[in-house]
Amino acid sequence: EHQVHIIGGGMAGSEAAWQLARRGIRVRLSEMRGGGDTTPAHQSDGLAELVCSNSFRSDDHEKNAVGLLHEEMRRCDSLLMAAAEKARVPAGSALAVDRDVFSAAVEEALRSLPTLEIVRERVDVLPQDGLAIVATGPLTAPALAGSIGAATGADSLAFFDAIAPIVYRDSIDMNVAWMASRWDKGAEASLALGGDGRDYINCPMTKEQYFAFWEELQAGEKTEFREWEANTPYFDGCMPIEVMAARGPETLRFGPMKPVGLDNPHWATPEHPNGRWPYAVVQLRQDNKLGTLWNMVGFQTKLKYAEQVRIFRTIPGLENAEFARLGGLHRNTFLNSPTLLDRQLRLKSAPHIRFAGQITGCEGYVESASVGLLAGLMAAAELAGRNWTPPPRTSALGALLSHITGDAEAESFQPMNVNFGLFPPLADVKKKQRKEAYTERAKADLRDWLPTLA
Ligand code: FAD
Repeated sequence: EHQVHIIGGGMAGSEAAWQLARRGIRVRLSEMRGGGDTTPAHQSDGLAELVCSNSFRSDDHEKNAVGLLHEEMRRCDSLLMAAAEKARVPAGSALAVDRDVFSAAVEEALRSLPTLEIVRERVDVLPQDGLAIVATGPLTAPALAGSIGAATGADSLAFFDAIAPIVYRDSIDMNVAWMASRWDKGAEASLALGGDGRDYINCPMTKEQYFAFWEELQAGEKTEFREWEANTPYFDGCMPIEVMAARGPETLRFGPMKPVGLDNPHWATPEHPNGRWPYAVVQLRQDNKLGTLWNMVGFQTKLKYAEQVRIFRTIPGLENAEFARLGGLHRNTFLNSPTLLDRQLRLKSAPHIRFAGQITGCEGYVESASVGLLAGLMAAAELAGRNWTPPPRTSALGALLSHITGDAEAESFQPMNVNFGLFPPLADVKKKQRKEAYTERAKADLRDWLPTLA
């Protein structure tokens, strides 16, 4: 009889299974591939299959947030990091792998664990009792997704993401942009949250700038939907900005780029002491409680990444913008974790169930695996009756976990990759030295935390 049931043998489920079973805990790992099912993206029956790129991105743990996450996972005896080392192929400072060697190494290590049973089966309903970890990923099979939706409320489970670019606050030029809410509305709600009623960052455009921008949006190179995404419905409020632009020259100006009620104080004159309305405005809304990340409201897009950077840096105030993440739209099953999950990744309404991997609203192979690692460690602590000490907030593991379990703004919650904007700011460190300062602080704090893991 198993003690923990893990559903999904992808990046997160495989890592969670390792963390539990190597501690002698009896685990059942259910993976539907190899049992007559598959997803539209997977090609093989192997555990921890990489569905697209073969890269785990930068391996630089001194200056890069995902590289730091690699290093922290290694220190937690991550199976996926060990397998990546075995499967490594040359890729400069990136960590890239031979995907078949990688998947085989994961499977071989898991098979060597006597308390782990790997079962090729599809699970259609959430387990009623016993500890479970659901790690079924962005392409969770429909029946189980239905069962999850029934447990969480359908509004809290999304099937597509609609990601607007996210900008680091300190890369926005506030000599051009300014803080304000339209018509100064929302002041009361804002004050209740500790704001000052000026909640948005606003980037002004003249008529010439607006039309040049409108043309660039339409001319910019886009990524195509994959075949199985092709009938993607555009939900209310999720239409790509370029699709909206194509509807007509004024559509954006009456939609997300509406300037009404937004006096630009940088354009103040003796006649207009409060400033004037620009021809169009790009608004950014705070995306995390730390206030380090701001999302471009309404700017979900299928423009290619390089095109997004090029075109969005023509927006006044964003000339030097650094992006924590770029926009996108994909099929992607994910929960509104900040409202649904507790700080230990447990469903508040059914705490015997944990979620892990991309379904929790993290994004990417490494991030998904790292949330699987944490879910495994948490379940191990729970079974042993030990208190769980969360990873330090200053570490990559802690920063990502804190974001998805409560620090992200729930209303605009969209999948997130690890980045320094999720870390508590180090304002007193010069910008040039900041990345190293983040990674040094993280490694030092993690060192103190590791002994809390049994
Ligand atoms: P997965 O790795 O998808 O694992 C979930 C597992 O659960 C699968 O093996 C699936 O077969 C199984 N499963 C699903 N439902 C059931 C069920 N009901 N019963 C039993 N088993 C079930 N990330 C990157 O970092 N780089 C990329 O280039 C990249 N490209 C991507 C391209 C596509 C098309 C997609 C969809 C995603 C891409 N991602 C990429 C994101 C990447 O897939 C995820 O970050 C990562 O694989 C998620 O890990 P996971 O463990 O949460 O889910």
